[in-house]
Amino acid sequence: HIAVIGSTNIDFVTHVERFPHPGETLHVHSSTTGLGGKGANQAVAVARLGQDVALAGWTGTDMLAEMARTTLHDAGVNARWLLADPQAGTGRAFITINHAGENQILVDGGANMAHGAEACSHLAPVLDNAAVVMMQMEMDAELVQAVARQARDRNIPVVLDPAPVPATGLPDALFALADILTPNENETRELTGILPVDEATALHAARILHKRGTHTAIIKLGHRGVVYSTATTRGFVPPFAVRAIDTVAAGDCFNAGLATALARGATLGEAVRYAAACGALATTRAGAAEAAPTADEVACLLDR
Ligand code: ADP
Repeated sequence: HIAVIGSTNIDFVTHVERFPHPGETLHVHSSTTGLGGKGANQAVAVARLGQDVALAGWTGTDMLAEMARTTLHDAGVNARWLLADPQAGTGRAFITINHAGENQILVDGGANMAHGAEACSHLAPVLDNAAVVMMQMEMDAELVQAVARQARDRNIPVVLDPAPVPATGLPDALFALADILTPNENETRELTGILPVDEATALHAARILHKRGTHTAIIKLGHRGVVYSTATTRGFVPPFAVRAIDTVAAGDCFNAGLATALARGATLGEAVRYAAACGALATTRAGAAEAAPTADEVACLLDR
């Protein structure tokens, strides 16, 4: 199976004409409540590809936890190592999207952020027999490091999505502990000082990541495609031509495709192409994990 260690949130999303001013009350066009958090999104996206997947992390013991667990279960995600913390609330995100498609987001990490490196042993069982480990940075950075060390000791490849980059930067050790680092444009700028806008600038940024210890850098350039680089190979995958309407969670679906293809034995180049197809398809539908494509849809796009 693929092991995802990461955040589980409930997202409260509202669509408005414009953002409210301080002290103002507005009526919204529409609102939804659903599963979110990069860990849960990536796990659901892997499940939609038909791959065995287990999510480890924490919720609270509130009604939002019930909602998250039911949604994960219905999506086919094994949530046995998604632990319930009675001291903390389930993570939640409050997302407002205006007419222009801009968003404002407030996040309460809650139970996701309530555990440090000492809690690693509670999550470690999810690594048993895992083919690939996926992580993001919506948990304590020390805990992410501790899990990555365990994975390394067991020879399980780690795909780390450095999202969001912590305010203090990504801990130095993580550059080398992750086998594959998958920043998007902004994260690349935060990690290297270079905003990648094309293949050449992305490869320049990748060289800086390699100097910091990254083995494989995969730089996601949104509608410009994706660049990958190791010490011995590099490549560019142009974007698949799709009609993008909502790029939310494109990166999460990309990472799900990447890990799934690697778990199925693909080469790096093949896996990046598969991932790019997943990311592209995710932009053709609204929503986060629910926009993730199935394996058939990906196969269709790859054959086109
Ligand atoms: P994030 O969601 O982390 O910001 P990106 O927006 O870079 O990540 O999207 C991840 C990947 O999904 C891209 O590298 C690309 O392969 C694919 N993708 C994203 N947006 C588009 C698009 N408009 N057209 C085609 N592919 C896209």
